[in-house]
Amino acid sequence: MKLDLNQDGILNKLVSIRRDIHANPEFGFQETRTAGRVAAFLTACGIPVTTGVGGTGVVGTLKRGTSNRSIILRADMDALKIQETPAHTRAHGSLNPGYMHACGHDGHTTMLLGAAQVLAAQGGFDGTVQFVFQPAEEWGKGMLAMLEDGLLERFPASEAYGLHNVPGLAIGKFETRAGAFRSAEDNFTINIRGKSVHSARPQQGRDALVAAAAVITALQTIISRVITPGEQAVVSCTDIKVPGIRNVICGEAEISGDCRSFSPQVSALIERELRTVAENVSRAHGCEALVEYTREFVPTVNHPELAMEVGRVLTGVFGVDAVDANARPQSGSEDFGQLLLKIPGCFVNIGNGATESLHNSAYDFNDEAIPFGVEFFATVARARLPLTSR
Ligand SMILES: [Zn+2]
Ligand SMILES: [Zn+2]
Repeated sequence: MKLDLNQDGILNKLVSIRRDIHANPEFGFQETRTAGRVAAFLTACGIPVTTGVGGTGVVGTLKRGTSNRSIILRADMDALKIQETPAHTRAHGSLNPGYMHACGHDGHTTMLLGAAQVLAAQGGFDGTVQFVFQPAEEWGKGMLAMLEDGLLERFPASEAYGLHNVPGLAIGKFETRAGAFRSAEDNFTINIRGKSVHSARPQQGRDALVAAAAVITALQTIISRVITPGEQAVVSCTDIKVPGIRNVICGEAEISGDCRSFSPQVSALIERELRTVAENVSRAHGCEALVEYTREFVPTVNHPELAMEVGRVLTGVFGVDAVDANARPQSGSEDFGQLLLKIPGCFVNIGNGATESLHNSAYDFNDEAIPFGVEFFATVARARLPLTSR
């Protein structure tokens, strides 16, 4: 590391901001308090701020020098609808019952604020940094809302960079890769319609529950028999709803679930096969299937050259052992992928040490990661907006 955040007490201030945001979690598109804190912090750094971008999104625009080059550094602000585990009540525990920062977006927001402060105070770059704080990452809707509100027209940028903390990855470690790094998420619902009848007279009905069981089993072959070996994808049935009357043969059943993939082609193949299996297996049981298939997250696809450049730059700052620039693609989804559909860029994992897993009710972002995230953002800004370009 090259940056010393202990100088001027920056780190202590960032830790207290992180804990304040943790204590006041806000759900997607309702991040008014968080956005207010972000805007006030940026303003105090002398950075011009625009609020209300795509709902509760905030953009800070920091210019230095004369270059026309511009990049986006992005963080997410939203919390989850999860009750923080009482046994893990902490001094900065959630004051908002039923909601908590279980994904560490409090940490991401804080790390980007730290980078904004460092870059505003110390410069070291030539061009414009757009600090983008997005709402509603967990829904996969916040970045789209900012883009539809003219993010790239109002705050032009030619590249974008973001990060997510990873429990279990050591503090100070980074991972990224060229190409697809986070999966797409598709959701599906299969409504199977049969005919309900007295449970003693099955021959007079059409059992939607038996059909649903056969559909669920058959769907398991999409990954094992349809997707090319070597491609990564997941098809998960996660819920089944039936009327549930003990002496009535089930006349309707609803299966829902979610699919992960890393390319539009594989996503399209999964949808086609899922419809074929659900409709035809149901028909074999004398039932009818209606399939709804929606795309919630696009895959997050890193630009090959920029991912290599980020790997190189991070290695220069943190050392060769700290950076894995060829990490495996991961089957979680990330709203940052929407931004990478518009402009090239790179998303990285940052180690969060031995914390609970993400979306666990006992999770708490590890403040030890803050300096590394601050330095990641500041380093990338300086590398991509070099002073030598003048
Ligand atoms: Zn999450
Ligand atoms: Zn997250």
